[in-house]
Parts: sequence; C-alpha cells; structure tokens
Amino acid sequence: MSTILVVEDEQRIASFVAKGLQAEGYTVTVVADGVTGLDYALTGEFDLVVLDLGLPGLDGMTVLARVTADRPELPVLVLTARDSVDDTVAVLEGGAADYMSKPFTFAELLARVRVRLKATTESAGDDDLVVGDVRLDLRRRRAYVADREVELSARELTLAEVLMRHRGQALSRTQLLSRVWGYDFDPGSNVVDVYVGYLRKKLGPDLVSTVRGVGYRVD
Ligand code: CA
Repeated sequence: MSTILVVEDEQRIASFVAKGLQAEGYTVTVVADGVTGLDYALTGEFDLVVLDLGLPGLDGMTVLARVTADRPELPVLVLTARDSVDDTVAVLEGGAADYMSKPFTFAELLARVRVRLKATTESAGDDDLVVGDVRLDLRRRRAYVADREVELSARELTLAEVLMRHRGQALSRTQLLSRVWGYDFDPGSNVVDVYVGYLRKKLGPDLVSTVRGVGYRVD
C-alpha cells in the first residue's frame, strides 16, 4: 500500500485527513511545519504528499517549489484556504499535481489521492463498484440497478460509494458525515438518515441496513 505524507499545521484537519487515509489502508505520516515537511518529502519514502499552503517555518509554496525541483515525480496535492484563480494558477504552475480548497470533504480528497497514485503506480482498474444488482460506475459517476440507470445526486452517489467500499463494515453517522459532507458539518444533523432514505428509495430497500446504535452498513 502507498505511503502518504501530510504536511498540515491545523491539527483538526491533519487528523481528519490522516484518520481517513489510514482507514483506507494507506500508511500516513503527519508533520506540522514546512521545514520538517520538506525534509520528509525529499527522503524518497513517500508516494504522495498532501501539502497545506499556510505553514509555519517554511510556507507551502516554497516547499512545493523545492519538492518539484528535487523530486518532480512525487505527486503533491495542495490544500489551500484561498480559492482565487490567481492562487490556483500559481499552485498548478508551481508543480502541484492537484489542489483542493478548504473546506473539502474526505471523499473529494480520497478521489484525488486515488487518481494521483493510480497515475504513478498504474494499479488495477477499480472503476466499477458492485453489490448485488447495484453497480456504480465511478469514472462516469453513474449508478445502475439491474443495468437500468438511476439518477443520483453527487452527494447520494458519494454516500453510496463510501458505504459500498466498506461492504460488511458498519459506519457511524459521524464517519459518514465527515466522509461525505466534510469536517465542517454539524454533527447533530440528521442529513445522513435522510440521504440513506433517498438511497433506499432509488437503489432498493435492502442495499443499506441500519445497525442499531451504530449507523449503517452495506452487506
Ligand atoms: Ca495552515
């Protein structure tokens, strides 16, 4: 499995990213300043770097420039609080493989990480996710039941994807909220239950089971 370096000084975001990636099976190292981040990135031990721009010690743009110069093959995914066009262009011209504006959801981050790692490691295609007669075409973001296409919103599709990827495993409302809606979402919200209801209506009543006191699971 791939090894990912997370350079982020905001502890809440670093832990959100690290826990999520670890749950997906990645090995994750977190550092909180630019100087250490650059040192680690240049060791050659990492397959991908998630890099915040606003960092103590050495700012993210400088880290990005040095990494790109010394290790151009190492994909860097930049996290930015800014989302102006100028900054985006600067980040991409600076050699970033991709960028994400905060706040972002874990599902968005994971999708980008997978694409970048796949581009460098050429792993086997996993574009389709199938459970029973439900199939998600992840590349084209479409859903099918018994080969008949079903209209899902982007959020519904992401929720179905997260549950189906963790087949057999119960996921709590909090886990689903952070994966699908992002870390800024109100933990008291019942939006997960509402969306599971939508999925049952559209993809069939049996796809998602309720696990009492825990959350939801796809079997
Ligand atoms: Ca920061």
